[in-house]
Amino acid sequence: MEDRMYIALAGNPNCGKTTLFNALTGSNGYVGNWPGVTVEKKEANWRKEKQITFTDLPGIYSLSPYSPEEVVSRDYLIKNRPSAVIDLVDSTNLERNLYLATQILECGLPVVLGLNMLDLLEKSGDRIDVSALSRELGCEVVQVSALRETNVDDLVNKAIEAGKAGAAPAPARVFSDDVEAALAKIEKGIAGKCDVSLNRWFAIKVFERDAAAIEPLGLSNAELEAFEADIKAVETARDDDAESIITSDRYEWIARVMDACVVKAPKKLTTSEKIDKVVTNRVLGLPIFVVVMFLVYYIAISTVGTAGTDWVNDNLFSDGFFVNSAGQEQYEADAEEFADNHYGDQISGFIAAAEDDGVVTEDGATEVSDAVDALAEDPEDADSEAIVDGFVASAADVTAKDVVITDEDGNDTEDTIPAVTADHFLAAVDAQSEEPDPADYDGYVPSIPGAVEGWLDDAGASDAVKSLVIDGVIGGVGSVLGFIPQMFVLFVLLCFLEDCGYMSRVAFVMDRVFRRFGLSGKSFIPMLVSSGCGVPGVLATKTIENEKDRRMTAMLTTMIPCGAKQPIIALVMGVLIGGSDGWWIAPMFYFLGVAAIIISGIMLKKTKAFAGEPTPFVMELPSYHFPSIKSWWLHIWERVSAYIKKAGTIIFAAAVVVWFLSNFGFDNGAFGFLADGDVEKSLLKVIAGSISWLFAPLGADNWMATAASINALIAKENLVSTFGVLFGLGDATENSLSMWSGFAGMFTDASGIMHAGAMCAFVAFNMLDAPCFAAIGTIRKQMDDPKWFWFAIAYQCGFGWVVGLIINQLWELAVLGNFGFWTVVAFVALAGILFMLFRPAPKYDGKDEHILDSLSEAEASL
Ligand code: GDP
Ligand code: MG
Repeated sequence: MEDRMYIALAGNPNCGKTTLFNALTGSNGYVGNWPGVTVEKKEANWRKEKQITFTDLPGIYSLSPYSPEEVVSRDYLIKNRPSAVIDLVDSTNLERNLYLATQILECGLPVVLGLNMLDLLEKSGDRIDVSALSRELGCEVVQVSALRETNVDDLVNKAIEAGKAGAAPAPARVFSDDVEAALAKIEKGIAGKCDVSLNRWFAIKVFERDAAAIEPLGLSNAELEAFEADIKAVETARDDDAESIITSDRYEWIARVMDACVVKAPKKLTTSEKIDKVVTNRVLGLPIFVVVMFLVYYIAISTVGTAGTDWVNDNLFSDGFFVNSAGQEQYEADAEEFADNHYGDQISGFIAAAEDDGVVTEDGATEVSDAVDALAEDPEDADSEAIVDGFVASAADVTAKDVVITDEDGNDTEDTIPAVTADHFLAAVDAQSEEPDPADYDGYVPSIPGAVEGWLDDAGASDAVKSLVIDGVIGGVGSVLGFIPQMFVLFVLLCFLEDCGYMSRVAFVMDRVFRRFGLSGKSFIPMLVSSGCGVPGVLATKTIENEKDRRMTAMLTTMIPCGAKQPIIALVMGVLIGGSDGWWIAPMFYFLGVAAIIISGIMLKKTKAFAGEPTPFVMELPSYHFPSIKSWWLHIWERVSAYIKKAGTIIFAAAVVVWFLSNFGFDNGAFGFLADGDVEKSLLKVIAGSISWLFAPLGADNWMATAASINALIAKENLVSTFGVLFGLGDATENSLSMWSGFAGMFTDASGIMHAGAMCAFVAFNMLDAPCFAAIGTIRKQMDDPKWFWFAIAYQCGFGWVVGLIINQLWELAVLGNFGFWTVVAFVALAGILFMLFRPAPKYDGKDEHILDSLSEAEASL
């Protein structure tokens, strides 16, 4: 057995390290187009020889320890001492990439240079003289294409050879003679204090006066003083400081090497550059992006994706489906024939007629229709049969009446069934149990809840267990899984845009906009991702190097309405405008999210905790290319699987808790399972009822609205589904009339006025407050500090509450002329926000690194 060999992949951001790493190991590291994505290093074994381990180091421009990426890479090379290093460079950008190469060559490790993007280099017509470059650098040089997997094995084999030989390249003559002379002296002076292979590295660090780097040498002040004379002499001669001298020597050397080794093709505009002229145009860039994103969302949310999601929800989670079209046609014909008889209308119509004639009281009528329902479930139910028989006996002489036929949503149509009598009623009751059951037809596959209910019945499970499994677990987890087709289509499109190189241009375009608000273009990427789902959105904040901006973006990004918030938007839309012509309402809530982020961004940037110049936004724009199917798929899968994982873990647990709270409570003084599903007695009502006063100023002192908001913390999809349960509507969706009236009813007062302001306030609060548990968990992980985490959650909820307050109070004042204490508070809050927006940014001492201490000030000044 050979020893394990570690080969580090180092290089600039976007030079293709992760692509190479994935090609070599088959693992699915995140391939990103913007710098900083790979902050943690990744390890995996070579597919061809398992004892070769590759490490994908973060992308860096130099080995100076100024960013977390640089520290990780430098520590790995200097302290861990891998067996060999593959320094990958983007050969279409050789000049810039060689800067890091000069430093890696000094680490005293066996190095092989990989000239990546061979395909693009060939296309550009430039030529690199590999053997000349190899001579200059003193190490092997291999031209590869990580994407097309050209020559990658050759590169690895050379690295293995170099690793086995163990020899570091002979130092290239990078520095000018006076510097080299000083370095030689220092090398002699520190000999024996470190491994020989690191002699040159440490000598340069001593020359640069990099105190942190040379700490391991343990040099005494006297020893350092001895070197100072030589360093100072060079500094005086060159009229520059030591660090800059080293840097400029490197650049001069690179310029010489470029001259000697690279033959540039005459410059012509590449296709990529031509596209960029349009796409990143100052005027057109933004509109083009808006159109592209509109198309992406239209396809994913409104057309293809919705079709998939509807199919899953309708078939897998509610009705079941047919795999055999003959059985399906037969069933549909029978079902239609059955529906044409309008038994339900005959039954309810006749009971109403009997009530009109004074044969039964209102309570009596309810009792009869309950009994009829019970018989539909179980035709053998003797008690119900007795009630129905008794009713028919006393109602024999009720005047025959015409009954209006209702449609699926329970609305009256123009058609009637003439002269419905007691006989019709009885026949309808009997016929009810004959409703065609799809399970009796060929090729029927029951829905998941249907099948599970069947098994549980067979196993003799109790009502409580059935309810837990079907309503709690399948209902809760299913509501998330049902979104997968939509998410999948969304990610297919978004990942394509990312992998082909478009999104990096967009970040660039957005940087021009965001800079005005004190944020950099990097904050835009997480927001973009969040409009699909906040979880990857928050994760994407990793790309922001500036700690303050990173925190702020993680805190605000989930205010963008994600996919799961769409149903509640659709619901208000239905109530306010009856579902017609309201296309502008959904974008309004989208812009509410955008406005909330921008306003918050401006306000927070003026507090000490977040103040500071936006990070300069530099990045390499890779040429446009068609993504490799493999990396595209891995990228999609990474995101979709996160969704599935969320459903299986956090949502699963939360669904069980909510099920417990809404199905257990005190009935007749005894605590237990509420068999009749009476939510009025549930623990949920007790809990929600005890805090619903918090929402009184928002016009929603209402336990149901509160319960829905609490449930929404588990998954925002729960807003609508909770109302379904609480209004007793079963599987009603955001598009049904009964749901609209129930929802409107919550905001209608005793005198019949519907408070649209309170309704919008409720939705606004739920858009902006803390996101779902999965996203909250991600924020927590991302912040990695309880204090910041809780500040983020408090800010989100507080800001959402204030916005809701302002909306509700302004509506009450403007439409109803209501004025009160909370109106004043709303105006004060509004004035406060405006003040924060327009006051000049205070100057803070830039050196203040005690950010946490200033947190309480941020809280106080908000
Ligand atoms: P990293 O930042 O060094 O890890 O770079 P990535 O592996 O994330 O690659 C950055 C971009 O360059 C991605 O869009 C890759 O698809 C692309 N890329 C990587 N290698 C090649 C290559 O050999 N040819 C071409 N045309 N594109 C490549
Ligand atoms: Mg990478």
